[in-house]
Amino acid sequence: MDLKKLEKNVRERGFEFFYAATAEEAVQHVLDQVRNTSVGIGGSTTVDQLGLYDRLTETNQVHWHWKDGPKPEVYQAAAEAEVYLSGVNGISESGELVNIDGKGNRVAALSYAVGKRIFLLASTKKVCPDLGSAIERARNTAATKNLLRFPGKRPCTDTQRCWDCRSKDRGCCTMQIMMYKPMQCERVELILIEEDLGY
Ligand code: SF4
Repeated sequence: MDLKKLEKNVRERGFEFFYAATAEEAVQHVLDQVRNTSVGIGGSTTVDQLGLYDRLTETNQVHWHWKDGPKPEVYQAAAEAEVYLSGVNGISESGELVNIDGKGNRVAALSYAVGKRIFLLASTKKVCPDLGSAIERARNTAATKNLLRFPGKRPCTDTQRCWDCRSKDRGCCTMQIMMYKPMQCERVELILIEEDLGY
């Protein structure tokens, strides 16, 4: 990974960029910027492993269906929050950010983001040479591993490869490629962490 090239390409797309050598540095960076506000979180193992829900709850109103229950009012409050946190499934060195979603709450919040501040947290292992390999990673690594958490019958369970299946238990319904900071969005910041986090 060429970190300098990645940062340049990410910034040229209107995103902010922060490199964290450790998980705690990434957490502290978020805590320094997010206080006394409302925070929504999309499904993210990385955010969970960082313990950000508990840390942010000390000074903010935090809404996350993983902790508060998968209730419509929780999804709604998360979508309307001033700050939104998510992981990323694949990052291209050319600066595109790829996410796959089931319900679509996460990619919706990242797409329609007027007035919002968005923090995207991801391990350096998610960086890929180009957009094609970032999409490949999102499908064949992030999605397949993530779906092992859920019951159901899918061809990727045993093969760890995406077959673009028609399973009723399919968990990959929308793919989003963030190519540029959304219009009227306050801030999108990619926080790249030099630790093994997420899928
Ligand atoms: S589309 Fe189907 S096979 Fe591919 S990762 Fe999703 S559930 Fe698995």
